[in-house]
Amino acid sequence: MRPIAPALLTTAPLALVAAALALLAFLPPAAAQEHRHGTGSLVMTFQGPVLTFDLAVPAADIVGFEHAPAVDEDFTDIAQARAAFTDPSQVVALPLQAGCATDRAEAEFVPLARAAGDQPHASFTVLYEMTCETPARLSSVSFPLFGLYPSLTALQVRLVVGNAHRDVTVTRDRPQLDLTR
Ligand SMILES: [Zn+2]
Repeated sequence: MRPIAPALLTTAPLALVAAALALLAFLPPAAAQEHRHGTGSLVMTFQGPVLTFDLAVPAADIVGFEHAPAVDEDFTDIAQARAAFTDPSQVVALPLQAGCATDRAEAEFVPLARAAGDQPHASFTVLYEMTCETPARLSSVSFPLFGLYPSLTALQVRLVVGNAHRDVTVTRDRPQLDLTR
């Protein structure tokens, strides 16, 4: 499928929209995507003025462990990480001119299902909902998140605009995503 830039959302041909819809029906939430240490996954959805971020990052990169919290120190680390995630400015930087205000910000430590005897794995899942006064000014997004967590090297980003999407990888070396292309 041809990649679609946000600017094209109003002109997507019908066939393409139908194809994208069929694909979206099977789109897993970010938290359900592949769990690989060093790499987070993010679904960014634009619906008119509403911008949603659905992020999942391996807990190993955030707190350094993925077992169920057992001692006070574990609980403290998780609480501190959740507190940092509930401040969106620690995670994503948007152009000020877009006038985006946060309506909802949530973060959870989520143990992942595993077979008996396997290493435990867990992720932090983060959800932001924002409303932007001038969504047309959303020309780029960057990720200060990389500055906070040194072992995090990449984010696999799915941009969903209306019924179309494109996939992009953002890395620690190039933490900026151009939304105008
Ligand atoms: Zn893991």
